[in-house]
Order: sequence, then structure tokens, then C-alpha cells
Amino acid sequence: MSFDTLGLNADLLKNIARQGYETPTPIQAKAIPAALQGRDLMASAQTGTGKTAAFTLPMLEKLGRNKARGSRHPRAVVLTPTRELAVQVSDSVRDYSRGMGIDSTVIYGGVNIRRQMDQLRRGTDIIIATPGRLMDHMSRRTVDLSQVEILVLDEADRMLDMGFLPAIEAILKTMPKQRQTLLFSATFSGTISKLAQRFLDKPERIET
Ligand code: AMP
Repeated sequence: MSFDTLGLNADLLKNIARQGYETPTPIQAKAIPAALQGRDLMASAQTGTGKTAAFTLPMLEKLGRNKARGSRHPRAVVLTPTRELAVQVSDSVRDYSRGMGIDSTVIYGGVNIRRQMDQLRRGTDIIIATPGRLMDHMSRRTVDLSQVEILVLDEADRMLDMGFLPAIEAILKTMPKQRQTLLFSATFSGTISKLAQRFLDKPERIET
């Protein structure tokens, strides 16, 4: 199987080839076409399985189909449990989006908030963030999530373990209901299922 048949545009295919990827991993082969159909997803995926590309590639494909240049409103948000993961996802988003004219901004705690505020003020298409710091920006009104089309919850189980449920709830409340939500988690507990029931719309379950 190759990436060519998954429904991704030429820029993405070029960027994938530049990374040296030849075949989609199992999670990518299942999640990319399902996400491109517009379905909400609940995917079980461990780190190291290629899960980052499994949600980033369809997200970029969808944003690229319908360019909204000049808008200051983010169109996609990826929530991650830790700063390290946020930076990793952000690096992947940058690598995969080369040449597409799509901007991304990474937001995490433990550093001065001013620079992030300046970056957000300039406008960005994609925010990759840890929930606590994103909440901070929401309360300072430096971020407006009312135009978000795609939300990714990465490592949802770890976010819940770290006590981020209230922050996630507060963040999701400010997003449109008519969005696509992709939830990735290594494990599926009762709490994850409850989260999915509340915030996902008839999700397709993807197991690898
Ligand atoms: P992740 O599970 O997203 O942390 O990815 C784990 C590693 O696999 C990363 O170093 C990716 O660059 C790499 N990777 C992701 N997709 C592929 C692929 N289709 N072929 C080869 N390597 C990949």
C-alpha cells in the first residue's frame, strides 16, 4: 500500500516522501481515509505507531482544501498532555505542511506568556497546545476558538490522568459544535468513553 491512494494532496505527498516514509503505518491506513470522510474518530494508538501523522495529515489536507488566508482565527487545535509532546507534534506539523501556506503555533506552560501572546495576535491556522496554558490564553482573550473546524485530543488518557478534564471541558465549550474531533488514546477507560460520548459525534472506532 502507498500514501498515493489515501486522498492527500501533492504537497503533502511530497512532504511525506521527503520524510522518507514509503508506506502508511496501520493506524495511518485506517485513520486518514476515515478522517477525510469527515467522521469523528476514536483511535487507540501507542506512541511510535505513526499516530502523529495519522491525525496531522488529514487535518492539513482538510485545511488546504479550503484556504482562509488573512483570518486571525485558528481553524484547528491539537491538545497534548505535555510540553515535550506539543513541541514534537508542532515539529511534525511544520514538516508535513511545508509549501502549503498554513501556519502553526505551539503553546505550552513554564515559559513567559508574552511571546506566545504576540504570536497568537499575528494570527495562526493551527494551535498545538497543552490545556492549562491554552486556558490561560483564553482568559486573557488572546485566543478565539469560535472558528475551529478540527480538534485533536492526542494522548487523551494521559491528559485525563494529569487532571486536565476541567480545562478540556472549558476549552471545548468555546468551540463550535459543528467541528470534527479526532481522539487518540493508548488506552480506553470508562472516563475516556464518557469524554467521547459528550464531545464526539458518532465516532468511528479505530483499533490497530
Ligand atoms: P509517532 O507514533 O507519531 O510518534 O511516530 C513515530 C515515528 O515514526 C516518528 O519518528 C515518525 O517520523 C515515524 N513515522 C511516522 N509515519 C511513518 C511512516 N509511514 N513510515 C515510516 N516512519 C514513519
